[in-house]
Amino acid sequence: MKALFREVEISTDVRQQLVDVTEHVERIVRDSGIENGICLIHSLHSTTGIIINEHESGLVDDILRKITTDYPRGTGWRHDRIDDNADAHLASVFTGSSKTLPVRMGKLVRGTWQNIFLLELDGPRTGRRIVIEVLGE
Ligand code: ZN
Repeated sequence: MKALFREVEISTDVRQQLVDVTEHVERIVRDSGIENGICLIHSLHSTTGIIINEHESGLVDDILRKITTDYPRGTGWRHDRIDDNADAHLASVFTGSSKTLPVRMGKLVRGTWQNIFLLELDGPRTGRRIVIEVLGE
């Protein structure tokens, strides 16, 4: 079995943001030379998520609006006593920090409208790190 492990560093501009990382992931799958296997995308932070969906500006706004509605800031969360970002941790918990996709014939298997995003929940930040591991033959 072959494996390629890479880290990608991303900067974000605002508190909540979706950053499309599909090109990074596809480049790493190509670089791996792996024909058939799986690709893991994992964020190393407790206030981010990894999601897969359509890259359409209205939907991006809708996703961020839904997060704000479901996890409102400053509504008495206990963790806010520490560093005032409980809403970001909670959204991360329920979004998840990793995704795994199949790799077939040297390509990431994804639907036409399935892009991969880093979901920033407590930006702006420099040095947000995601790791990508491709495993297979
Ligand atoms: Zn915190």
